[in-house]
Amino acid sequence: MRLVLVGPPGSGKGTQAERLVKHFGLTAIGTGAMFRDAIGRDTAMGRQVKPMMDQGLLVPDPIVNDVVAELFRSAVKPERFVLDGYPRTYSQAIAFDALRTQEHLPLTAVIDLDIADEEVVRRISGRRCCSNPACGACFHSAARPPKAPGTCDLCGTPLIVRDDDLEETIRRRLGEFHKNTDALLDHYRKLNLVRDIDATQTPDVIFANILKALGQ
Ligand SMILES: [Zn+2]
Repeated sequence: MRLVLVGPPGSGKGTQAERLVKHFGLTAIGTGAMFRDAIGRDTAMGRQVKPMMDQGLLVPDPIVNDVVAELFRSAVKPERFVLDGYPRTYSQAIAFDALRTQEHLPLTAVIDLDIADEEVVRRISGRRCCSNPACGACFHSAARPPKAPGTCDLCGTPLIVRDDDLEETIRRRLGEFHKNTDALLDHYRKLNLVRDIDATQTPDVIFANILKALGQ
């Protein structure tokens, strides 16, 4: 089983990645974690990407491709995996295709978690999180309202809207997502690898539909 998971912020991608890892015993591969690890170990690559990560910028494709290629050519090369956040662009997909061919790692499927932008905005912009950094509990004005409006159920601290959850931030990230991902999905569609999954369902239903789409 070798999967690529694609979905916008707010699609529940992280949750489904975790379930796939547990269910199939896969290795989870995320480039964000790989970069944080390189920064933590203070490698040459870590020093190169740290300023970009600190500023919230996307790391350029050639660097991302290199770090993935290094992993798949290493002694700990994963044979069965779920990729979350890579490939993110068409050019990354082309580089990854070449690497997979060299390393004899055909993909099983590309899971596309499909959700309308307006639904993502509705989901994320309703988030209210505890302003106490030691707590950080999050609520949702519609899906999971706190008992007292504007106050954390757990510690009584006022709830705030985080910068990441502002509507303008969400719309900007969705714009970036579509700009990068639409061409990537077209590419994988031509290879008949894409399985479209309705991501507006509950996590349990989404996971069951993924298993069905994989013929499991
Ligand atoms: Zn709290």
